[in-house]
Amino acid sequence: MTDTTIDVSVVPERSGRSGFAGSVNPELYRLLTALNLDREYVRGDGTVLFDSVGRRYLDFAGAYGALPFGHGPTPIWQAINDVRCSGEPIFVQPSVLTAAGELADRLGRIAPEGLTRTTFVNSGTEATEVALKIARAHTGRLGVLTTGNSFHGKTLGALSATGNIKYQSGFGAPVTGFDHIAFGDAEALDAALTAEPDHYAVFLVEPIQGEGGVVCPPDGYLRQVQEICNRHGVLLALDEVQTGLGRTGRMFAAEHEGVIPDILTLAKALGGGIVPVGAVLCRPELVGESFALRHTSTFAGNALAARVGLAVLDELTRDDCAVVTGAAAIGRQLKNDLAGLAEKYPSVVTEVRGLGLLLGIELTADVNFVGRQSLLGSIADQHNLSAVICSYLLNVEGIRVAPTLLGNRVIRIEPPLTVSAAACSRLVAALDRGLGYAAEGDMDGLFGHLLGRPTVATPAALAALRPGRTPDIAVRPGDRRFAFIAHPLDLGFFAAFDPALEVFDNAERQDLLERFAASTSELDPASFVIGSGRVSGFGDSTAHGDLIGLPYTSEQLLRLPTERALRVVGGAVELAISRGATVVGLGGYSSVITGNGLGLGATSRPITTGNTFTAAASLRAVRRVCQERGIDVARARVTILGAGGAIGRTIGKQLAGEVGSIALVGRRGENSVIAPKLWAAAQEMVASAGAGSGDLAVAAAEVDGNLDDLIRSRHIEFFTDPIAAVQDSLIVIAATSAPHALIDPTDLMQGAIVCDVAQPPNIGRDVRGERPDVTVFDGGIVRVPSGSDFSLTYGLAPGLTYACMAETMLIALSGEFALRSIGTTLDGESVERLGALADVHGFTLAEATRWREDAQ
Ligand code: PLP
Repeated sequence: MTDTTIDVSVVPERSGRSGFAGSVNPELYRLLTALNLDREYVRGDGTVLFDSVGRRYLDFAGAYGALPFGHGPTPIWQAINDVRCSGEPIFVQPSVLTAAGELADRLGRIAPEGLTRTTFVNSGTEATEVALKIARAHTGRLGVLTTGNSFHGKTLGALSATGNIKYQSGFGAPVTGFDHIAFGDAEALDAALTAEPDHYAVFLVEPIQGEGGVVCPPDGYLRQVQEICNRHGVLLALDEVQTGLGRTGRMFAAEHEGVIPDILTLAKALGGGIVPVGAVLCRPELVGESFALRHTSTFAGNALAARVGLAVLDELTRDDCAVVTGAAAIGRQLKNDLAGLAEKYPSVVTEVRGLGLLLGIELTADVNFVGRQSLLGSIADQHNLSAVICSYLLNVEGIRVAPTLLGNRVIRIEPPLTVSAAACSRLVAALDRGLGYAAEGDMDGLFGHLLGRPTVATPAALAALRPGRTPDIAVRPGDRRFAFIAHPLDLGFFAAFDPALEVFDNAERQDLLERFAASTSELDPASFVIGSGRVSGFGDSTAHGDLIGLPYTSEQLLRLPTERALRVVGGAVELAISRGATVVGLGGYSSVITGNGLGLGATSRPITTGNTFTAAASLRAVRRVCQERGIDVARARVTILGAGGAIGRTIGKQLAGEVGSIALVGRRGENSVIAPKLWAAAQEMVASAGAGSGDLAVAAAEVDGNLDDLIRSRHIEFFTDPIAAVQDSLIVIAATSAPHALIDPTDLMQGAIVCDVAQPPNIGRDVRGERPDVTVFDGGIVRVPSGSDFSLTYGLAPGLTYACMAETMLIALSGEFALRSIGTTLDGESVERLGALADVHGFTLAEATRWREDAQ
């Protein structure tokens, strides 16, 4: 194996990349690109791969176990060349396939005793199909029992056997007859077979669950399984597609416990890393005409594949199976070294598992592993820390590893059986650095390469910034449960969220955000857990809440195509519910982009935008400030920015009876007429002015609520320009979803008050400097009851929260789910009721809304 410069004649044309990205698998291409995993490998030699720019990598992913001798092994190429030179025909079905006969004979001699009948196939999944057909044909029974978290392939029968709902759903799997029990639980097997005698044809199981995350069963499991299956007259099929042919340090994993199954499947390694070949071995009496004369597969048993299989067996059995015993020895050493890393970084590595050279490093899923509230913790909670480490190892250290398919917080270590001790030492040293960065929360070390920063090892400059690991707030019995969906308002916000992100500038934060958003799939939407907290309500009532983050700023969320936006927020809602939330609040723009929640359709738990309580809190704040400033509300003009939206409209309705006049500001409708939404809002406001004592109510009573008359008398006025609208208003309510400021302090009338409900604010911040006569306060911010611990940082002073989040808390604490706010029409009774509940549970309103003024 050499690592000299590459032969440029084999570098594929650039069109290969765009062909893959466009026509083969654009979805996978996006995921790979997001974490810089999109290498084009142009040459492989043993454990080493070379990419199109000549960089060299050690391959510890090993094609999921299909590379027993690494890339391009000479003896296998030799066998292929021999076929070519001899002129042996490859495809001559049906006839006496002599090469297949030789391979079957050899397999029968090395396999567990009595498995002398071989059916050839072309892949692992096809091997599973054949095993199931043989078992069903022989027993005349349909039932197939397999284990949860197993992987047996992805064709429909094999997928039905595969114990994972994520890969099954949408494909009609499992088909009839398939059941799953826990892996490693012999009693569960006994119970299942006892409960349904004569139902199951076969129990199919992997000796070690490979794709499930390198999960080893308890010692003695396979022996017990064999005894139980025998006792119940059910066939035992071992799926050795991944474990077979030396991978676990024995020729077959079944040998570790001396188990002899009825059926055994092989694939992957049998092809020597060059040709797809698989085989199903079984006792001869299991196969009769009903299977043998009806099952065919055009390519199965072809001469080339069989000659390759024979060459593989030659290599594996040479010198007393030196390759296999060598793999056992090197695997033992490697596992030891990895276990050493697990001891060194206990907060990051939760377990090292496996046998031989089928090893798995399980990484933490603790959102809190580098302290409460960190981006790395959120990534770990998403089970994506493994992908981050894979990206680091590939890009910085030149080592290829990959997560297992189902257990994706497990990094598989599955190099060629011929891997050298020196290559293993390089892997361990590289992992030592990568895991070290993760343990210290060093973002530069882990992510710097994605942002084009120098990839030299940097000391963990950030360790000092970390407040230290603080325990997360765990769920206690009796806690009500809620969740709240949030997102950074802008890029600067990130450092408040996680101080470790301070090392990056805004452009780099933007780049990272985009990568995280792109690196998750539709099946695992991009939401992540930020952390949790508890609010203490009236008496001893408590509610535990998870804060779920979306990796988009306000502007980015607004730019998402509707379908994607709904998928992203829908995914976050599902994540929240799966964690136990009984009500989910849509914070920030997650409500705006889902049409105030309506776009999400029916959800299994109530969702709420929090708009009703935001309106309630703002109303209280406005009334209080008006009183303090001695404003004659009954004469005063109120301007509502965003009057057609849920919050503006609700506040307008509630205030209509008290005020002098209302200016409604909103987008223009078609043909420059007043938008129907704004017109409807005005009608509702006038209707609810009722018998109020303000000028508007009095005028409305005189004209019987006729809107045209009220417009003529300027009791109601419409604007599209916010600046023009605020000029002669003493009271301004800003409740738009614009992601930037709309008015400037200088636009305001002398002595005006502005209730800025919007996040980000609709009015620029430096009000006090420019207009000391003006009072600006945040309507949508409240103080949580004392005794609560919701001190996650999302840009507010300690103890404060957004009113929309407070509404979610109030609904959880009270269990009054009907109070949820959805759509733009909110009812006045709910506004009152939530205000009352806030008083009961100790959420303070108006005082807390003054924070911005106080902070200046
Ligand atoms: N069975 C096991 C245990 C496997 O690990 C795999 C693949 O990873 C399969 C079956 C399916 O093999 P293939 O991908 O060749 O269809």
